[in-house]
Amino acid sequence: MKMVGKYENYAEWYLDMVEKANLCDKRYPIKGMNVWTPYGWKIMTLIDSFTRKELEATDHGEVNFPLFIPETEFKKEKDHIKGFDEEVYWVTHAGKNELDVRLVTRPTSETAMYPMFSLWVRSHQDLPLKVYQIVNTFRYETKQTRPFIRVREIHFFESHTCHDTEEDAQCQIEEDLDMLDNIMDKLCLPYTLLRRTEWDKFPGAHYTVGIDTVMPNHRTLQLGSVHHYRTNFSVPYDITYEAEDGTHKHVHQTTYGMSERLLGAVVSVHGDDNGLILPPAIAPFQIVIIPILSKKSTVDVAGAAEALRDKLAAAGFRVKLDDRDDRPGSKYYDWEIKGVPLRLELGGRDIENGVVTFARRDTGEKGTIAMDSLIPGTQLILDDIMSTLKAKAKAFQDDATKAITSMDEIPKEDTSELRIYSFGWCGCEECGHKFEDEHDIKILGTPYRPEGKFEGKCIVCGKDTELQAFAARTM
Ligand code: ZN
Repeated sequence: MKMVGKYENYAEWYLDMVEKANLCDKRYPIKGMNVWTPYGWKIMTLIDSFTRKELEATDHGEVNFPLFIPETEFKKEKDHIKGFDEEVYWVTHAGKNELDVRLVTRPTSETAMYPMFSLWVRSHQDLPLKVYQIVNTFRYETKQTRPFIRVREIHFFESHTCHDTEEDAQCQIEEDLDMLDNIMDKLCLPYTLLRRTEWDKFPGAHYTVGIDTVMPNHRTLQLGSVHHYRTNFSVPYDITYEAEDGTHKHVHQTTYGMSERLLGAVVSVHGDDNGLILPPAIAPFQIVIIPILSKKSTVDVAGAAEALRDKLAAAGFRVKLDDRDDRPGSKYYDWEIKGVPLRLELGGRDIENGVVTFARRDTGEKGTIAMDSLIPGTQLILDDIMSTLKAKAKAFQDDATKAITSMDEIPKEDTSELRIYSFGWCGCEECGHKFEDEHDIKILGTPYRPEGKFEGKCIVCGKDTELQAFAARTM
């Protein structure tokens, strides 16, 4: 079966991979609402487990809010409702009765949580309030849907915090970005942090930091975002606390969220023409063992393979013994598609020599591990797969980014010449819109943590500027 080339036709390759690796089933009779299969869901829950670990370690409490939000609460923050009006699902009836107050299925949970926060926060001793939930959210996507990347029911984590001062809320943003870095390390994904333009920030936010990564077609995918709200929501939702001096003040708020797009990015960034390549940290099976049986051999290969599996499992590895009655070549093919990072082959000769043969999914490298150093030897290879995946993805991202001084360098259509562009921008909205409209491209924003001082000229009006901006076509 010939696979579609990842760099020849990324869109088709992606759909092919998701289907062949059986990550989800998109035949469910609602477009954009897919069924998670056991293999796909296992990867997602492993990703969630890292998110949960980070949030618990930083004193966030896990909550679970109702799915429905009453229209009355949903409409309290004006910019927020304007931003979501066209993409929420409405519940209008219960049984045969029309509802007095219509309900929306959450597109995100600000308007569900904040009426409750206003009851929970009383005094400065209740602050900071830090909660999160991992739930499904709903958005009516009108663009073409794509598994994990653009769906209408979205698996999502969101953290929400309240603070007594703007500075404390700002410290929260820094904590969020540290957590982000730890999570992305497990996924071996490079990313950029760009402060979104005023016209592209989250509806109701003071500012938004977008988290983006580069796809094989050189378009960017937004994986999540971090927002500073100041008091933009606490005023309409009346979330106040009594300060030490007895006065009542509005809290400062932040949120941080990421979605199942993380899985879409892992598939896209690491996979190759033979299937997925999963980072060991999130692989349901880090190792697959294939026994090489031979009628001529007198060695008990099947028994040795079981013992090998038990030894690796006891050491904490997620390991699968494939003892199906099938040819080894056909098994290799199946596990390559599923992206298992490390394959171990065990035959009569390996057992006699006191070794096990290995094949790496990422580089294709083959060799042997001595049985008497099985555990450290295996760990060493898995660690090296993690660092190799990271380095390769980072090199691709660096290569996909190009500094330009003229708008003529941007191709009109998507070609292999397309890049992520960095350039000078005076910061004014007029130049920003002109740039975006003329080139069908989006300004992703300005570096949240600039690497050094930038000096250049606005790519549109030519004015001297110290502001560097990044732009890309997005998924
Ligand atoms: Zn300008």
